[in-house]
Amino acid sequence: MIEIRDVHKSFGAVPVLKGITLRIEHGEVVCLIGASGSGKSTLLRCINALESYDSGEITLLDQRVEQRSRHINQLRTQVGMVFQRFNLFPHRTALENVMEGPVHVKREPREQARREAIELLHKVGLGEKLDAYPHQLSGGQQQRVAIARSLAMKPKAILFDEPTSALDPELVGEVLSVMRTLAREGMTMLVVTHEMGFAREVADRVCFLHAGLIIEEGSAQQVLCSPREARTREFLRHVL
Ligand code: ADP
Ligand code: MG
Repeated sequence: MIEIRDVHKSFGAVPVLKGITLRIEHGEVVCLIGASGSGKSTLLRCINALESYDSGEITLLDQRVEQRSRHINQLRTQVGMVFQRFNLFPHRTALENVMEGPVHVKREPREQARREAIELLHKVGLGEKLDAYPHQLSGGQQQRVAIARSLAMKPKAILFDEPTSALDPELVGEVLSVMRTLAREGMTMLVVTHEMGFAREVADRVCFLHAGLIIEEGSAQQVLCSPREARTREFLRHVL
């Protein structure tokens, strides 16, 4: 589904990704862990072509991801992205936020987009909040709207960048629960998270990124419970 081959990326003289190779199969859930500044967000942004990379190759369903690609908008609709900050349109209701992409980007008929948006908001547990504005919703509810908005584009995969890091602790569970459901339904997911419980339970694979390189990769059980690398152990000591 997603193939990343020896990707390098620098900001000015500062190398941030130093040769990332990672393959994500259809239906797989991969959790990416690593300290702040290790390059996790940059990698996700490269996959979604929000950021360019210097060398190597990223392909999505065998199509090369490049910012200059003629297919860039189509590629972007195929990979959803959920950020730490929900980035909802503040002056639109939950329903309008979810309809926005299908209507304006995919040019779906309004009625169809509306029906699907209502269904998706029910799916994330917000069937009662269709007409609420973001400021009337809790952080956890806003993040669930953001997930519904991403799903509305019918992506082939979704990238999550610390989707629960900005939430009060009591709101983390409801968001993870929606993500768990998606994972169980077979959605292909790459998740940057510090929620080790979630990773242990849901991830097919865990990758540990350190200073721009994936230095350990394996099953959640192996990486989180018996890491081979001293640097992974060191990192886990700080987050667990
Ligand atoms: P993480 O998500 O793992 O915390 P990031 O990918 O956000 O790491 O950042 C990796 C490194 O790249 C950091 O040192 C950060 O300061 C730097 N960086 C990220 N984005 C930019 C940018 N747009 N311009 C310059 N440096 C950046
Ligand atoms: Mg980040």
